[in-house]
Amino acid sequence: MSKKVLIVGGVAGGASTAARLRRLDEELEIVMFERDEYISFANCGLPYYIGETIKEREKLLVQTPESMHKRFNIDVRVNSEVIAVDANKKTVKVNSKAKGIYEESYDYLVLSPGAKAIRPNIEGINSNKVLTLRNIPDTDNIKALVDKKGINSAVVIGGGYVGVEMAENLKERGLEVTLVEAAPHILAPFDTDIVVTAEKELIENGIKLILNDGVKAFKDIENSVEVTLNSNTKVTADLVVLAIGVAPDTNFIKDSGIKFGARGHILVNDKMQTNIENIYAVGDAIEVVDFVNKQNTAIPLAGPANKQGRIAADNIAGLDTTFKGTQGTAIIKIFGLTAASTGNNERTLKRLNIPYKVIYVHPVSHASYYPGALPMTLKLIFNEEGTILGAQAIGYDGVDKRIDVIATTMRLGGKVTDLTELELCYAPPFSSAKDPVNMAGFVAENVLSGKMDVITPEEFLNYPKENCILLDVRTEIEFNNGHIEGAINIPVDSLRERLGELDKNKEIIEYCQVGLRGYVAARILVQNGYKVKNITGGYKSASALKSIPTKIDDMNKAEKQILDQDTQTVKIASTDKDLNYDKSLDACGLCCPGPLMQVKAYMDDLSDGQILKVAASDPGFYEDIKAWCQRTNNELAGLSKDKGTITAFIKKNTNKAKAESCTTDMQSVKDNKTMVVFSGDLDKAIASFIIANGAASMGKKVTMFFTFWGLNILRKPEKVSVKKGFMDSMFGFMMPRGSKKLQLSNMNMMGMGAKMIRMVMKNKNVTSLEDLIKAAQESGIEIVACQMSLDVMGLRKEELIDGVKVGGVGYYLGEAEDSNVNLFI
Ligand code: FAD
Repeated sequence: MSKKVLIVGGVAGGASTAARLRRLDEELEIVMFERDEYISFANCGLPYYIGETIKEREKLLVQTPESMHKRFNIDVRVNSEVIAVDANKKTVKVNSKAKGIYEESYDYLVLSPGAKAIRPNIEGINSNKVLTLRNIPDTDNIKALVDKKGINSAVVIGGGYVGVEMAENLKERGLEVTLVEAAPHILAPFDTDIVVTAEKELIENGIKLILNDGVKAFKDIENSVEVTLNSNTKVTADLVVLAIGVAPDTNFIKDSGIKFGARGHILVNDKMQTNIENIYAVGDAIEVVDFVNKQNTAIPLAGPANKQGRIAADNIAGLDTTFKGTQGTAIIKIFGLTAASTGNNERTLKRLNIPYKVIYVHPVSHASYYPGALPMTLKLIFNEEGTILGAQAIGYDGVDKRIDVIATTMRLGGKVTDLTELELCYAPPFSSAKDPVNMAGFVAENVLSGKMDVITPEEFLNYPKENCILLDVRTEIEFNNGHIEGAINIPVDSLRERLGELDKNKEIIEYCQVGLRGYVAARILVQNGYKVKNITGGYKSASALKSIPTKIDDMNKAEKQILDQDTQTVKIASTDKDLNYDKSLDACGLCCPGPLMQVKAYMDDLSDGQILKVAASDPGFYEDIKAWCQRTNNELAGLSKDKGTITAFIKKNTNKAKAESCTTDMQSVKDNKTMVVFSGDLDKAIASFIIANGAASMGKKVTMFFTFWGLNILRKPEKVSVKKGFMDSMFGFMMPRGSKKLQLSNMNMMGMGAKMIRMVMKNKNVTSLEDLIKAAQESGIEIVACQMSLDVMGLRKEELIDGVKVGGVGYYLGEAEDSNVNLFI
């Protein structure tokens, strides 16, 4: 006699089990119970139907009871809820809309009841405007409300996958959307350093994001709902979507003798068998083994549910297949951005005390010279043995395949060294000869083989910095546009010549923009005997960590969406794309400082009032160009971001424009800074150079006019043979020769004070006077020696350090005329 299999739940896990069973055994009697009207629908597509990316409702229905019966000969019973299981009698009790309550016997029972949206018992939760999303009826409810005239706003509670997808889709429908998350960040599977980019994308697309604040109460007020948060902030909207997580839908089996985990999930073995031999369970309702850390967990995802259904069917049909755990590989679209992850994140590993290492790479999606290359961040987590523990990526293109490749490598037991060897398909439109996955492998291998010691931006925050030099090896333009506080700048290309500026007794913590130049710098330094740590992921990762997305940028495209109140559809207002421009620059694929340097070169060729349109894909360009325009006083006429491409319109403003650095021609506007350095005291000299360098870094033209004792600061340390009279020679002999010989104005204590102040400055990582002078010269600060004072003091120009200009009082007064700050030191 043929065996009878009952399946509870007719969607992902249940329908997969049924179809596989039939393919394996034509004789089985298979009955599938589904509480609702629909089976085998696309849960994952529901938010996109509400957002109208998926236009036809039928497309959500992958199978119908009729098609399932026709193709697989399954007895599908919809509107039939299983309300109890009697494991001894091997029967289930069914509550059917059509037939009422009845019993059905089984030889095998498969449970795939899934998980229901959590609705906590908080004030006002029963409002008919506070909705959850799990199935087709929920979808119809939400969509009907959104389609209704006069619905303008929504609050989404919960920043998990469903919450974020709903926030995006409601925004796409033109609603004002507030997303509320109780944790410090959204999307818990990702670490903070990755997820802040997703938060920024939400904000830039007009979502109001409230982090670190949970819901206290809901209250219906006329046609709206008032949401009160724990902070007592009140947000009012026309509808609320509650997406704070799911709980296993297992109440109906609580008296069946089936064993549960701590949070009510069904416990199964690797054959998907519960503690009762002929009862199997799959999907969101079960506990699974975490593939990486081997602990029991619950991971509600469609992929594992479908695979588990197949494995349950195999075992019922006599095949010996096993489920080897869930990796949690997942992906999400956040407007133009994609975020994906696999394995464990840092938070999980820390909680379980599992040691790990982290590296970041920031490659582009395909060859940077081929149009459309977009940047991504890829984070790889691994252990001392090279085992891959997890990976996370975020970017605009190609994120999915990189995480899929790493997930596959993990599944097959591959190590980081295997990532270096993977031969992945390459042609310029698709990838680079060294794919981002290979790159991540190279960096991880360098770390494991000791070629490079890395520190994550997060570790750096708490690292004892007293005996460290923080070194930024990027170009001056990048450094000036933003750097980690306390860093000194020696570009990697001049590092070999400037090694003397770095104290070998100190540990060097260095960084570049994304980690690559940092690696080159680390190799130079290590081979020259320095102890070095490279901040992995460079400035890009470090600045992602400190980014706190709070403000809504009024230049974003979503702000320009208009909801047509008559049709409840979205109109896009004219965008920056409509602006006229005189010249355009495509800087896509270039990493910082490439786009900025090109902008500068192009702007130099424009006349006053002309507009440059720039397209760039480096995400940092969004902030960089704002800072650059502000610094150079050019007008940022438009700035927008669309699927990873940033478009800026910059209007040349010659009258006010400052050159981007002091090394270029200066315009004569009254915004310069001048300084008369009269004193030759060490402390006053240091102060004057600190002020001058500060002003120069803000793009100001600075002139330092050295007169009388101040000239000693500029003297060369060595004796220079010049023809002088007796008095001049005597005078020169008595005066300090150069910056290193200067004394303090107070507490000099026969030279001890000067030595002490230099030591303190060194310990506190304050740049020495000599470095300050060098930095001043490099940033184009004009150092002028007073001709008259040189004559009076009997000094010659040759005795002064190189690069000093000799000028008269007239020159100084001319410069002071164009200044709005003039100091006498
Ligand atoms: P379900 O697919 O939920 O099926 C369970 C079915 O059992 C339900 O239809 C329920 O009505 C029925 N049922 C429950 N109890 C009984 C009973 N006592 N008697 C009869 N019938 C019963 N996962 C991804 O991997 N990627 C995504 O992009 C993604 N997006 C999602 C978007 C949304 C809006 C939602 C809700 C989920 C999403 N998921 C996604 C999760 C994915 O849908 C689930 O992991 C998967 O569907 C779980 O399959 P399951 O069979 O365990 O449960």
